[in-house]
Amino acid sequence: MVTGVRVLKRVPIRTCIACRQAGDKRALVRFVRMAEGTVVLDPTGKKAGRGAYVCPDPGCLSKALAGPLEKALKISVDPETKERLRAEFAEQITSN
Ligand SMILES: [Zn+2]
Repeated sequence: MVTGVRVLKRVPIRTCIACRQAGDKRALVRFVRMAEGTVVLDPTGKKAGRGAYVCPDPGCLSKALAGPLEKALKISVDPETKERLRAEFAEQITSN
């Protein structure tokens, strides 16, 4: 039994799959594996499916695309999809 611990705010915390740094879910960029086996960027954070989070940092995205993303989503991502995700990611972090 845990006593004396109070959670002050219910902020969902997620971990970046590239640098393993934990952050506010809303500050991270979410990738989702869709039912048909594709990976998309999820700006709303509401898409259903297996998700992975990356810092809004191009360095973390590059690292994630080099392996951790596929591992986290248990799917292989082809080079074209990676290019698309890179473009969507860039758009996402500049629009925020
Ligand atoms: Zn990161």
